[in-house]
Formats: sequence, structure tokens, C-alpha cells
Amino acid sequence: MKGVGAVDKGEFQIEAHPAQEFGPDPLTVRDTDHYTNEYVKGFVEKWDELIDWKKRYASEGSFFIDLLRSYGVKSVLDVATGTGFHSVRLIEEGFDTVSVDGSAEMLAKAFENGLAYGGHILRVVHADWRWLNKDVHGQFDAVVCLGNSFTHLFSEQDRRKALAEFYAVLKHDGILILDQRNYDAILDNGFSGKHTYYYCGEEVTAEPEYIDEGLARFRYRFPDNSQYHLNMFPLRKDYTRRLLQEVGFQRVETYGDFQETFKADEPDFLIHVAEKR
Ligand code: SAM
Repeated sequence: MKGVGAVDKGEFQIEAHPAQEFGPDPLTVRDTDHYTNEYVKGFVEKWDELIDWKKRYASEGSFFIDLLRSYGVKSVLDVATGTGFHSVRLIEEGFDTVSVDGSAEMLAKAFENGLAYGGHILRVVHADWRWLNKDVHGQFDAVVCLGNSFTHLFSEQDRRKALAEFYAVLKHDGILILDQRNYDAILDNGFSGKHTYYYCGEEVTAEPEYIDEGLARFRYRFPDNSQYHLNMFPLRKDYTRRLLQEVGFQRVETYGDFQETFKADEPDFLIHVAEKR
């Protein structure tokens, strides 16, 4: 696996992206490859302020841990490591965890956070999901893709390719846990303005600036008046569920804000659990 083990930032070849660049018309930026330009150093540094580890820990409770244990999971591939929140949690709970991300900035921060929160040495792999199996060779009981990450893929071909790669690194009875914002609610009813669960820093706002069926552009504002954007693809719930089934997952269960039963437009986040067997 490329980049596994103790690594220093130099190994990731971090490119200098001092500021986000969306060009003269940001609404035309609908490109899967653009995510590495969006997670610039300043934004990555702010990300933990945005998601507030302590509050996130409290609001998620043991949902993912209980779910993984209920399937007898021992090994987990965290494919959207970001700054390492779930990887660190999984290691602390005793799961054999490997941490993947396509952004070198994010992985470097995750590695730093692993050391800072409990002295954990994260096993990190710098890889894009679309070519995951080039760099990740083991097989895992579970793949987790959390924090509204799958939304970064802009073409159906990229989504199918990524899901096929996730499917391939799973053991025969493995599971994929993939979450997303409830874009149906935003597309159909407008943004509720609530920030529960993921974006809990009280003084941080995360709001859609623009939405259509092909683009959700979010603005993240911080107390120091800095602001950053992410351009994402607004995944509809039934579409994601269909894709999961079409790439071969046998059963897909969807939770709304950690509950099994929910009204369509109530939850902020949807969590899909897809079984390979
Ligand atoms: N899971 C983390 C969390 O919840 O805090 C991070 C979420 S962040 C919204 C999305 C992450 O997915 C980023 O770290 C980004 O670099 C990664 N990502 C997006 N597209 C990717 C791709 N095609 N391959 C690998 N990583 C990707």
C-alpha cells in the first residue's frame, strides 16, 4: 500500500494551494477532480473547528461503532479520512483501521491529529477512490465513507467506478457504510438552516449558496470572517440506493439522522448500510 505507516508531510507531495480557485464562473465547476483544490491548507486547518470533534463525538454517540460490531466487523477501511475523526475513533474502539484520502492536505492533518488525540499512528494511504485497488491490496470487513464525502463525485461513471472499487476491497460478507446530506430536502424544500451532527461549531455557518439538480455549492463561514466553498453533486436518496444495488450490493438499509424510521424531509443526513452478501 502506498504511504502506509509513519509518514511525514513531505511524502504526500503537498501542492501549495494557498487559496481556493473556482475561476470566473464558480457554478460551472462540476468536476470530480476539483476536490483536491477545494481542501486548501487554510480550509483544512479550519475543518476541525467546523466539525468540532467533541460535539460530533457526543451527537454521533456509538451509532457507527454499534453498527460495525453488530456485523462482527474487525477490519475497517476509512476511505474518506479527512482530518481523521472516524479513523481515530475506530482505532480507539479496537478496529484494525486503514485510512485513505485523495487529498494530501487532509491526510497530513489526519496523521497529525492521530498523534495529538491519543498518540495513534494512523496507517494512511493516499489514493483516489476511482483507483483504490491500485494502492490498497488487503480485504476488509467494512468500508466507511462518511461526512458527506461521496457527493464530491460529479459523473455517474465516477460514482459507479468508486463504488465498484469499494465493493472489491470488501470481504465476501463485508459492508459499506456511506452517508450523505439529505439533498432531496434541500432540492425540494430549500435549506432548513439547522446544523446538527456534522457542522456543530456554534459560530460556523455552513449553507448552500446555490443549488440545482447538478450542483450544490456550499459556503462555510468562520468567526474570523474567512470563508470557503465546496462544489458538490446533490445526490438524491433513491438514486444513491439504486447505484449501490446496481454495483452488486444485495441489501441496502437507509437511516435518517441515525434512526431507522424517519420522514423523508426531516433528517439532515442519510446513512446507507450496504451488504455485499
Ligand atoms: N470523513 C471526513 C469527515 O467526516 O470529517 C471528511 C469529509 S470531507 C467532506 C470529504 C473527504 O473526501 C475529503 O477529505 C476529500 O479529500 C475526500 N475525497 C473526496 N473525493 C475523493 C476521491 N475521489 N478520492 C479520495 N478521496 C476523496
